[in-house]
Amino acid sequence: MFQGVDELWMDGEFVDFDDAQIHVLTHGLHYGSGVFEGVRCYDTADGPAIFRWEEHLERFYQSGKPYDLDIPFEPEELTEATVDLIRREDLESCYIRPIAFYGYNSLGVSPGDCPTRVAIGAWPWGAYLGEDALENGVDVMVSSWRKHASSQIPTNAKTTGLYVNSLLATEEAKGNGYTEAIVLNKEGNVAEGPGENLFLVRDGEIYTPGLAESILDGITRRTAIELAEDMGYTVHDEATISRGELYTADELFFTGTAAEVTPIRSVDDNVIGEGTKGPVTDEIQSQFFDLVEGRLDGYDDWFTYV
Ligand code: PMP
Repeated sequence: MFQGVDELWMDGEFVDFDDAQIHVLTHGLHYGSGVFEGVRCYDTADGPAIFRWEEHLERFYQSGKPYDLDIPFEPEELTEATVDLIRREDLESCYIRPIAFYGYNSLGVSPGDCPTRVAIGAWPWGAYLGEDALENGVDVMVSSWRKHASSQIPTNAKTTGLYVNSLLATEEAKGNGYTEAIVLNKEGNVAEGPGENLFLVRDGEIYTPGLAESILDGITRRTAIELAEDMGYTVHDEATISRGELYTADELFFTGTAAEVTPIRSVDDNVIGEGTKGPVTDEIQSQFFDLVEGRLDGYDDWFTYV
């Protein structure tokens, strides 16, 4: 995955790939005390452009708050570092991974005087669930693992430690021959995918679990809601969706920076709709790619040009 990556940005400077190292006694490694982002830069007619960078950056800082993890760089510095990194790496489209975590000083659970370390990497990354997934959809299973409740851990923060739950759900799905999982929340309602938000289409209207369902406030979710509303759809963005409603949906799709807009063609071997990309999903997906690849007017504010 990292072939061809020459440099990363770390704690204020560009470092060679091989030198981007941390100590094995790093707090973040032991306790998952880090926060991160996943962002995409698309190749547009006006050159490489980072999609909704400002919102990702905002979420990055906000994610650190419950953990008193103060990112010791101004947003402008991280923006400049990222734009420079993409230029130095000569990338046209890429995935960008900013991470901040408690570093090395002590290993009490309280991070005490551990410094906050910050790094940014960028590399080409195609369709997360595969090109075929974007076209034909994925087969998913409802995981037997539940999401953390937001009363147990802030689920609106993109914390590194949270992702062991995603790992369990993903591995369970893959081990059973599925491409991806759907994870229910503690109440047993639909939350999201391990790295995606979920949308359901029924009778021409669109439903997605609300933030109170222990989901991440996905930026692609916000984008899909806005695009769908602009296209005239009614979007219920605080829906509570039961497991059974998944099976009888007309269409289902995932959204995420990595997964973009990926149709779901079956859940627990129940075929959804015609078992392929549905018409509403198709419309939103093609509008999404027109948007991120810079073919729609009026969304300039959402791009940071490299
Ligand atoms: N939920 C989870 C658990 C995720 O990890 C992600 C990916 N960041 C998403 C939803 C989608 O969020 P976004 O659209 O901001 O990438």
